[in-house]
Amino acid sequence: MSPTSNKGTALITGASSGIGAIYADRLARRGYDLILVARNRERLDNLAARLTTDKGRAVEVVAADLGTDGGIARVEEILRTDASISMLVNNAGVGASAPLLQSDPAKMHAMIMLNVVALTRLTEAAAPQFVERSSGTIINISSIVAISPELLNGVYGGTKAFVLAFSQSLHHELATKGVRVQVVLPGATSTEFWDIAGLPVSNLPEAIVMSAADMVDAALAGLDQDELVTIPSLPDIADWNAFDAARRALGPNLSHRRPAQRLLAS
Ligand code: NAP
Repeated sequence: MSPTSNKGTALITGASSGIGAIYADRLARRGYDLILVARNRERLDNLAARLTTDKGRAVEVVAADLGTDGGIARVEEILRTDASISMLVNNAGVGASAPLLQSDPAKMHAMIMLNVVALTRLTEAAAPQFVERSSGTIINISSIVAISPELLNGVYGGTKAFVLAFSQSLHHELATKGVRVQVVLPGATSTEFWDIAGLPVSNLPEAIVMSAADMVDAALAGLDQDELVTIPSLPDIADWNAFDAARRALGPNLSHRRPAQRLLAS
């Protein structure tokens, strides 16, 4: 890809480390200018300097705490007013490994605020602009715990199930309006996420841990193949399609005037 080609600007949340920093690198290579959002300004500045020098892209840094109303509002304003933005990568997120009964309710609340509320509000800010231009891409980072909620903390799984369902609904609503949606369900990926979640990644079997670089490259290959739901580890997309078809097959029986026969008092 020529460094001079321009596909507009990608705004990436959680770009200071891990998966988000790799998205920044890969999207710069693909010809996007960047707006990098996270709390750690020093890390963002270092990444921005490297990408500007190596890839020749324009890179802006926004140090904002998306766990706060004020931080979300700052980024919403950018999404509403910067007409160059053609892609939103909702990646910022935190996890937890402890069971609910051993978790701090304040930390669970903060997780919901970042993983659900911030992601929703930034999408609500970007989507109308993309619809108006009949173009734009929204990439939401969910997790395999969206469909395997027994694996880690249940609130974390719930937030990621929200991201999956929200993205499926967004696709349903926006696909005919020229807006692309992709939701990515990474398995265990080698980042600082695990230290912050209280379970260093070295505790996991190597065979189930992907590098962040491989994860993002696979996710972008899924985007190129027009996948709505990308599970980077899943060998055969037919397995996901069968899972989704089973869900849809329930449709005709999910709402009836009368309760099911098995639930009627005898
Ligand atoms: P990471 O290296 O810890 O990155 C998390 C990013 O989110 C950092 O850039 C962090 O930057 C930012 N962030 C955290 N709190 C924030 C806040 N309040 N406001 C703004 N930014 C905030 O972990 P990662 O693995 O790359 O995680 C990225 C996404 O992938 C998350 O949504 C995570 O749930 C998802 N995911 C990860 C895995 C995995 O195994 N690693 C698996 C499935 C899904 P600052 O600290 O500078 O704010």
